[in-house]
Amino acid sequence: MKDCLFCKIVKKEIPCHNIYEDKNNLAFLDIQPHAQGHTVVISKTHAPSITELEDQKLQSLIIAVKKAMKLIKEKLSPTGFTIGINHGKISGQTVDHLHIHILPRYEGDGGGNVHSIIKNPGDKSVEEVAELFK
Ligand code: AMP
Ligand code: ZN
Repeated sequence: MKDCLFCKIVKKEIPCHNIYEDKNNLAFLDIQPHAQGHTVVISKTHAPSITELEDQKLQSLIIAVKKAMKLIKEKLSPTGFTIGINHGKISGQTVDHLHIHILPRYEGDGGGNVHSIIKNPGDKSVEEVAELFK
């Protein structure tokens, strides 16, 4: 995609600190890190969201996340990771090219867990929601 920031990184029109690359994917350091080694992993194929990326490329992307995590573990020795996708504008997605954030976690880093992102379960009970899927 012509005007996509991450497509420009793929095409090397914009530089990045690449930490892992394969045929389909690229992992690079986030320019505004929220943790030491904060990394963004993308498919080289433009798709704004999970639902728009074909299955094989999506499988390949998650394997690239695994490989990047292994490298980060070797180089920076975090004690854990938070893996996340801001999926859609409402969730905070600012670059419309699907990307998976790898946030290495360290003892005493002061960060929260995924549950700390939102606590607004809505009006329907869990049972009522479950009913919708039957
Ligand atoms: P999101 O809010 O999930 O769309 O995250 C986009 C991320 O891309 C942010 O964490 C930015 O700091 C990061 N970012 C934007 N431009 C660049 C860039 N040129 N190189 C590396 N990371 C970038
Ligand atoms: Zn793109």
